[in-house]
Amino acid sequence: MVSLTLTNVRPWGGDAVDLVLDGDRIASVVPAGSATPGGDALDGGGRLALPGFVNAHAHVDKSWWGQPWVSYGGEATTQGRIAHERAEREKYGIPSAASTTAVLREYLRHGTTAVRSHVDVDLGVGLRGIEAVRDAVDALGGAVEVEIVAFPQDGVMRRPGVLQLLDDAAAAGATSIGGIDPSAIDRDPVAQLDGLFEIAQRRGVGLDIHLHSGGELGAFEYELIIDRTLAAGLQGRVNVSHGFALGELAGARQAELLARLAEAGIGWSTVAPVRTAPLPWREMRDLGIPIGLGTDGIRDLWSPYGDGDILRIALGFARLHGLRYDEDLTYAVELATTRAASYVHRSVHDLVPGARADVVLLDAENVPDALMRAPRREVVVAGGRVVVDGGELLV
Ligand SMILES: [Zn+2]
Repeated sequence: MVSLTLTNVRPWGGDAVDLVLDGDRIASVVPAGSATPGGDALDGGGRLALPGFVNAHAHVDKSWWGQPWVSYGGEATTQGRIAHERAEREKYGIPSAASTTAVLREYLRHGTTAVRSHVDVDLGVGLRGIEAVRDAVDALGGAVEVEIVAFPQDGVMRRPGVLQLLDDAAAAGATSIGGIDPSAIDRDPVAQLDGLFEIAQRRGVGLDIHLHSGGELGAFEYELIIDRTLAAGLQGRVNVSHGFALGELAGARQAELLARLAEAGIGWSTVAPVRTAPLPWREMRDLGIPIGLGTDGIRDLWSPYGDGDILRIALGFARLHGLRYDEDLTYAVELATTRAASYVHRSVHDLVPGARADVVLLDAENVPDALMRAPRREVVVAGGRVVVDGGELLV
């Protein structure tokens, strides 16, 4: 049954088609003007159509979007930011469903319809952050889907009780558990990683580990992660976030690690920050190592930066790597959409029959033009529902 037809749109800048939706799915894609009438219709006006954006690394439990400005404070190190956040978050009511709803609405306005979010789990908030995120997703009627990574921001082994909380989170439905700097934060990388992998294997959940350490220390941590991924049979279920060291390593060392990461089916997510080493993205693509793009936290106690627009993150990725050719610029947009399907547990995420009906319409000539200008999202359809029309949020 047809519920909505988006007429006269150009998927990926190709020929004009009608996208026929049935509930939350794309039912068929037919030449423009040939869709059988039925259900509602929305005139796409010949606009460029892209799949909904996927934010593969976010912190929606503690972003502070739409709230009064909070001046940045704390020491400018990872440890300093963690301590600052612990000291201040309660004052701002973090975590809460209301602040998470605000940031998810902003994501939707930018066309993001699926998110993988790390959610803090620690001795202070317990699992309250996860509950707040679930409430926010429900408040938006499931328009934006959120995969939850239970995240031990404040450390694991140095905070006895956190491993149990991660186990509880996995038992309560978190699809992945996280980890953080097993050397720099816990100063006991083997213990942290053994603990995390034991839970992941026993509970059948994925792992997504923040690594900030550079150079050989970072490389050593990848090796520990690769060994455990292979031993636990968790190929395809493990991701490294940030992992700055990979871009810093030299030729043969880097190539050796890339081959082992590919063998272990370990993915990578990045926010393409300025002032970091470029990733060997061509080699990663050719080896089939997934790359996801994320916003990380936006406007939070860690950083005043970020607006939640994944298309702008893709532009940052293109700029960091000096991309110029159309096919490379299109690849950056694919990272923000189709190629990120596995980050949100989808087998397919594209403008094709059977995919979730997540569609973004923009006034752009083609995909590279959309990337360079990141124009307003004119229409956003999320799970078959129009959530943005004329650039205005409807939810
Ligand atoms: Zn993060």
